Amino acid sequence: MWTPSEWGRTLVSLRQQPTHDMDLHGDALLPPRSNRSAIGGGRRSFAPWKDPSVEPLIRYQGIVKRFGDFVAIKKLDLDIYQGEFFSLLGPSGCGKTTLLRMLAGFTAPTEGTLLLAGENVSSVPPHRRPVNMMFQSYALFPHMDVAANIAFGLKMEGLPKAEIASRVEEMLSMVKLEKFAKRKPHQLSGGQRQRVALARSIAKRPKVLLLDEPLGALDKKLKDETQFELMNLQHSLGLTFVVVTHDQEEAMIMSDRIAVMDHGEIAQIATPGEVYEQPGSRYVADFIGDITLIEGTVAGLDSGTVSVKSRATGITHTVLSDRPVSIGQTVWLAVRPEKITISFPDKVRRPTEEMLGVVSDIGYHGKWTIFRVLTGAGLRVSVSQPNSKSFVERPISWNDEVVVSFSPEAAVLLTK
Ligand code: ATP
Repeated sequence: MWTPSEWGRTLVSLRQQPTHDMDLHGDALLPPRSNRSAIGGGRRSFAPWKDPSVEPLIRYQGIVKRFGDFVAIKKLDLDIYQGEFFSLLGPSGCGKTTLLRMLAGFTAPTEGTLLLAGENVSSVPPHRRPVNMMFQSYALFPHMDVAANIAFGLKMEGLPKAEIASRVEEMLSMVKLEKFAKRKPHQLSGGQRQRVALARSIAKRPKVLLLDEPLGALDKKLKDETQFELMNLQHSLGLTFVVVTHDQEEAMIMSDRIAVMDHGEIAQIATPGEVYEQPGSRYVADFIGDITLIEGTVAGLDSGTVSVKSRATGITHTVLSDRPVSIGQTVWLAVRPEKITISFPDKVRRPTEEMLGVVSDIGYHGKWTIFRVLTGAGLRVSVSQPNSKSFVERPISWNDEVVVSFSPEAAVLLTK
């Protein structure tokens, strides 16, 4: 697990910009709340979706996909921009691959229009689209060695021999398979085959590259390294990547924007920082990272603050929010574990702010420890603490009585 500062350094060097990114635990390196407009613009100064004069490269308009009676994609609109690293994220079966296959031309939409660089491609066959797809199954040529597999598309394009050789070398180095150039696919491990497929799909430098779980078979260390190589290459070549993944960490690290999908619909499209810090719904909040959700009703409204009375905590919480709500409305507070404090109870209790509970689980994550606290009212609260001190007077342990609390700016108010 990387520390926030390690993250910052690496991504600054990659994107030449300060970053809001997260460590693998999901902890955002965010600008202060007063500067929230910077979220999403931080990865690099690249946000064409904010500029109404920029035409999207890819436009899904009113797309529906039915397989018999089953509706896999429900009336979906989605714009993806030139040079974007875009991820489709969501649980198995939510329609990610179907969207990708439509773009590649392997599946036709039942309804709607799909535009690529302003052209309706609904009836353009796959080989006529400026799109390359890396399949989950890799689809390598079994009789060709690794180098020949990577070179295949370039040969078909009639590139000069020297150019092909240099691109193959570059790709082999990117996927760290220099020593395997002469091996056939059956002489490789699953992860190595995946890297060959990745190298082959990027070698052609298609305008749009569609990647279906491109790093799924890689071990953690290799995945971390390849992610950065991939981002660097995509950025330096100005390619557009659309990636399907169910791995939220991967999506968070690599993407300019993420579409979180739910049963054939898009639940939210936003930058990684926004999706993490400002989820639009309980579904998104819960899908991305660890979170405590607290149900309550709106008890008071003031300019920029909302009071939420919760039976689950026995507290009337004050949160900062501009979201329009009305008195009596059911709402939820979403609080990330790193924004909740945990300590042993003081002699002087503060029942209007603190929840008293018992530690039910402890997860040691190296740099972090996650505590699950069961409060008296039956709420399960997730709290994380950095393991920055090597010696703690008395560490919090299982079954300890503790108090947990969070400040008004720590919670996000959700209405759905
Ligand atoms: P995974 O992460 O498991 O690959 P996904 O989000 O990519 O899932 P899709 O492959 O897009 O999901 O499938 C979306 C839904 O459509 C699933 O419920 C799947 O069973 C269904 N589906 C996909 N292809 C077909 C098909 N050819 N016939 C019938 N149903 C299909």
